[in-house]
Amino acid sequence: MARLVLKFGGTSVADIDRIRRVARHVKREVDAGHEVAVVVSAMSGKTNELVEWCRQASPMHDAREYDAVVASGELVTAGLLAITLQAMGINARSWAGWQIPIRTDGQHGAARIEAIDGAEIVRRFSEGQVAVIAGFQGLAPDNRVATLGRGGSDTSAVAVAAGLQADRCDIYTDVDGVYTTDPRIEPKARRMRKVAFEEMLEMASLGAKVLQVRSVELAMVHRVRLFVRSSFEDPDAPGMGDFLNPPGTLICDEDEIVEAQVVTGIAYSKDEAQISLRRVEDRPGVAAAIFAPLADSGVNVDMIVQNVSEDGTRTDMTFTVPAGDLGKANALLEKAKPEMRFELMQSEPGLTKVSVIGIGMRSHTGVAATAFKALANRGINIRAITTSEIKISILIDGEFTELAVRTLHSAYGLDKA
Ligand code: ASP
Ligand code: MG
Repeated sequence: MARLVLKFGGTSVADIDRIRRVARHVKREVDAGHEVAVVVSAMSGKTNELVEWCRQASPMHDAREYDAVVASGELVTAGLLAITLQAMGINARSWAGWQIPIRTDGQHGAARIEAIDGAEIVRRFSEGQVAVIAGFQGLAPDNRVATLGRGGSDTSAVAVAAGLQADRCDIYTDVDGVYTTDPRIEPKARRMRKVAFEEMLEMASLGAKVLQVRSVELAMVHRVRLFVRSSFEDPDAPGMGDFLNPPGTLICDEDEIVEAQVVTGIAYSKDEAQISLRRVEDRPGVAAAIFAPLADSGVNVDMIVQNVSEDGTRTDMTFTVPAGDLGKANALLEKAKPEMRFELMQSEPGLTKVSVIGIGMRSHTGVAATAFKALANRGINIRAITTSEIKISILIDGEFTELAVRTLHSAYGLDKA
């Protein structure tokens, strides 16, 4: 017998039929003898609708009232799932975040979970009751409902799993796992069996949008084993209830990954823009002068490359920002030009950052060279490169995105089963 947290996202609970299928997934685990807590999102599209209603009521609304409104979507699905489970003969009840309580900080609209009191839920497990918990919400210090920021029910599920010391947190979603790259670009992409927290963080932050990044960070800190799987498969198909090896992708500590590969995945993010400042004065304080105003204005700077200057007086500085922020960034830099004393600003929208990710890189050499050679063979020009311990990111022209992803995917042997 194990203790499981099952999380179902918006598309998985989009209507009553889907909620029935969700209930069958829950029933399968209950029948297997497990203790089960379920965390649900709002029905897909609901939260957007609620957010829009707040905006229409008044664009400058009170964040606490916004939370009161948007937290309601999850209450509806929690109640509907509890009703459905009861109709199937399962002892279940719904919980609003404040009833548990899931305590958060006071940042209404973007709150962080601080503590969860799981005692009552655990007591009810011993009576055979299933807890159906509304995701995305908690109770702030001002004694009012707080929501966690969009996509926050993944984080709710991980926090509940940590609080209940669950054996696993299953994230049921509309894809059946995490792939070696985007299957829409590379049909030979394969579902990974296991991926390390660190690798998943890189992939998630690069736009592999299976999980909210914060939920992966939280899982890594609390060592919550996360399992990504599909809610659309037949809940009673063979193997679905297999405790040790269910269909999907396990996100776990790297110690659990025995057959570690050097490279596990290729991620990309489109719509990047490059800004190059030419002949910037090479003296202390220049980088601060460039990046502080961007940061203050909320422009998210990503790759930063500064060249070593040739004569010790002037250097080049290149960095990327989201293409949507390019105009704003240009204006800020132009304004600060007298202080920064660069000679020329060049910018280029429409770029893509392709990244090669794998914890095995820590202990292998030649990983970067393989990427450069493969891209060169395809005539793809590299604009900038940055690396971390487990990642190589390469900036290229957007038109080569698909080709670069496929090329790198096969260069590291990820096509092969
Ligand atoms: N319903 C919330 C949202 O759409 C939370 C979630 O689905 O994770 O952002
Ligand atoms: Mg989601």
